[in-house]
Amino acid sequence: MTSGAKDRLDDLAIFGGPPAFAERLHVGRPNIGDRSELLRRINDVLDRRWLTNKGPYVREFEQRVAELAGVDHCVAMCNGTVALEIAIRALELKGEVIVPSFTFIATAHALQWQEVTPVFCDVDPATDNIDPAQVEAAITPRTTGIIGVHVWGRPCAVERLEQLARQRGLRLLFDAAHAFACSHRGRMIGSFGDAEVYSFHATKFVNTFEGGAVVTNDAELAAKMRLMKNFGFAGYDNVVCIGTNGKMSEVSAAMGLTCLDSLDDIVAINRRNYEAYRRGLAGLVGVEVLAYNDQERNNFQYVVLKIDEEQAGISRDQLVSVLHSENIMARRYFYPGCHQMEPYRSRLPYPAGQLPNTERLVQQVLSLPTGTSVDLNGVTAINQIVRLVVANPRAVRRRLEVCNRATRDAVGRGDGCPGRHGRVHHG
Ligand SMILES: *Cc1c(COP(=O)(O)O)cnc(C)c1O
Repeated sequence: MTSGAKDRLDDLAIFGGPPAFAERLHVGRPNIGDRSELLRRINDVLDRRWLTNKGPYVREFEQRVAELAGVDHCVAMCNGTVALEIAIRALELKGEVIVPSFTFIATAHALQWQEVTPVFCDVDPATDNIDPAQVEAAITPRTTGIIGVHVWGRPCAVERLEQLARQRGLRLLFDAAHAFACSHRGRMIGSFGDAEVYSFHATKFVNTFEGGAVVTNDAELAAKMRLMKNFGFAGYDNVVCIGTNGKMSEVSAAMGLTCLDSLDDIVAINRRNYEAYRRGLAGLVGVEVLAYNDQERNNFQYVVLKIDEEQAGISRDQLVSVLHSENIMARRYFYPGCHQMEPYRSRLPYPAGQLPNTERLVQQVLSLPTGTSVDLNGVTAINQIVRLVVANPRAVRRRLEVCNRATRDAVGRGDGCPGRHGRVHHG
C-alpha cells in the first residue's frame, strides 16, 4: 500500500515524488466486522421477510446498546440526526438551546430544523467541549435546554452541566455521536442528562450503514420517542400524536450487531494506531497529539492533531495540503465551526473574538486516518511525512506557494500541483 520511506524533501509528493499511498486513505473508512456473520444475518432477514418495523435484529441491537451504555432504554433510529431531532422534540425544547459551535453541523441543524434557535457557546480549551461557565452566561428567559457534545469521545463537564440544568430548570441532552463505548468516572457515557444520542453512521467506529439511537433512563421519554419514530402509531389504525419515520431497518441492525461482536477488536486496533501515532509524533514542536484519559474506556476512533502555526512554522492547512498530495485525506473537523456556516452565519452573526477558543481550535485541529483499514506501516509512513514537514517548514511553505500559483494558472487544465484534490468525504 505504501511506496516506501520518505526521508528527503524530494520524496514528498508536493516536491514531485510518488504519493505515499496508491489509494486515498480516508478518515472514517468503515469498519465492517466479520463479513460472513453479516451475510448470515442478512440472509436471516431475507428468509424472515421482516425488513423493518420493530424486527428481531433491531430489538436485539437496542438491547445490546442499552446494556453496553448501562441504561434502561435504547430507541434505535434511522440516523443520528433524526435521533437528535426526535429527542429534541420529545424533550419539548423550544426558543433557544445552548450548543457548542465546535461540533458537527447536525447538532445545530437538528434544532433549527424545528425552529429552535441554537445559541453557540465557546469551548473549554482544556477539553474542546462546551464550557459550563459560558453556558451559564448564555442563558436567557428563552432558553429551554443545553446540548453538550462529547467531542472525540472525551466526556463533557457532565456534573457541572447537570447541576446547572437542575438549578435553571433546563433540559440536558448529550450528542454522544463520538462517545459510544466511552466512560466518564467509570460510568458509561449514555446515562447522563435527560438522554444521550449516538450515531452509527458508516464513518463512526460502530456502524449500521446509516443509523443512530437515543438512550435514556426515562421510561416516559423513551415511550414518547418510540411513538414519534413510527408516525405516532400506538397500534393498528391508532395514531396518538404527531410523528415521523425514524425507524432503523433490519439490515442496518444486522450490521450493528456484527460490529458489536467485533467491538473489542476494533477498539484494540484503534488504540494500537493511536499509540503508534502518539509515539511517532512525540516531541515534535508545535504538534500536539490529542490525549485520552487512560483511566476511562475510550474508543480511540479519532486521532487528532493540533498544529500551533507559530511553533511549528507551518499552518494546519499547509500540512493538510501536503498530506492530501500523499493521498492521506486528513480532515479539518470541525472547520470553520457551526457559527460560521449558513444559515447561522447570516441569521445570528458572531463578531470575531466572541468565541475565541473555538476560533483558535478550528485553525489548529486535523484528524488522521485510523480504524481497521489502517495498519502500522501506514501509521509509520504518515508519521514520517509529518516529521519531515515539521523539520523543514520553510521549504515546504515555499513549495506550496509555488503550487498555489501554478494551480491558479492551470485552472481549467487541471494540471496544478500533484494531489490538490477537492473531493470531500462525508462525516
Ligand atoms: C456523525 C455525527 C452526527 C450525525 O449523525 P448521523 O448519523 O450522520 O446523522 C451528529 N453529531 C456529531 C457530533 C456527529 O459526529
